Amino acid sequence: MAKILITEFINQDSLNDLNRSFEIKFDEKLWEKKDELKEIIKDYDGLIVRNKTQVNKDILSNANNLKFIGRLGVGLDNIDTEFCKTKNIHVQPATGMNADSVAEYVISSSMSLIKKIPMFHHGTIKGDWPRTTIKSAEINGKCIGIVGFGTIGRKVADYSLKNGLNVLAYDPYIKKLEDNEKNYKLSTLEDVFKNADIISLHLPLTEETKNLINKTSFSKMQKQPIIINTSRGSVVNENDLVNAYDQNLISGFALDVFENEPIKKDLYERITSEINCILTPHISGVTTESNIRVSNFIVKKAIDFFK
Ligand code: NAD
Repeated sequence: MAKILITEFINQDSLNDLNRSFEIKFDEKLWEKKDELKEIIKDYDGLIVRNKTQVNKDILSNANNLKFIGRLGVGLDNIDTEFCKTKNIHVQPATGMNADSVAEYVISSSMSLIKKIPMFHHGTIKGDWPRTTIKSAEINGKCIGIVGFGTIGRKVADYSLKNGLNVLAYDPYIKKLEDNEKNYKLSTLEDVFKNADIISLHLPLTEETKNLINKTSFSKMQKQPIIINTSRGSVVNENDLVNAYDQNLISGFALDVFENEPIKKDLYERITSEINCILTPHISGVTTESNIRVSNFIVKKAIDFFK
């Protein structure tokens, strides 16, 4: 019977399913105990992680039996996938399983920010009653620019269209949209900066995408857009983002991901209740429903792999 190590939280029913097919060690805090992980990994055929476990060369060089890594989520930046290839370890993300959760987050935060809900909320609980001093708007008929048109970008496009938004898609690796995507417009990044009221980022973190949205990008934005980042923190330069808000180049932002997680003091100290923004601790893809889908998907893939 294959042995599987699980180092972060997983849905209980999926854990029960795994227990029927494998010898399991489950410790949802093991990602914190790097020395212990490095020591015991040598005994396991499979590893299941979320995004906190750093599956780097140091850990993998001890993983002599490892053949399968299941990622309870999508981004693979905590796993040295190149080194895995050299060791013939199969890396399995839960592609698409949390896309609906992220898309709902993008639409709900777009609506909240266009309606200035964070500012109304803070004004009201301070006793200011800012009924006429803050200007609100509708999402219907506005334009969203989706940067990175993969699994989640496409899901966001679908939700956007259903909510009356016009959709611009920027992705240099996509040359042509599918036949059922005629309502979207494939655009350049410059077009997105020029025309979008909302810019939502759905990119992997790579050398190319690191710091992609920076001071120069903000200076090209013409419609004071709202910026939404649910992808990876370092895609947006956080300092330039807050400066852009202070300079009225953008009218709000929602950040679910950060350059440093947990968020560092030098960023959160700049975020006052006067700012039209929403900050969340990397949860846009994590809901009750997505946790079940993600966990079931990885369990099924593990069972198929070791059959
Ligand atoms: P995906 O691989 O399906 O799509 C990414 C897209 O980005 C691809 O189409 C690719 O061609 C495009 N791309 C790559 N480089 C680009 C560039 N320089 N400019 C524009 N486009 C570029 O990935 P996905 O599943 O859609 O996930 C998107 C991001 O969201 C990832 O970073 C993932 O880690 C993150 N994510 C976050 C959460 C969360 O809870 N916050 C949940 C799920 C996924």
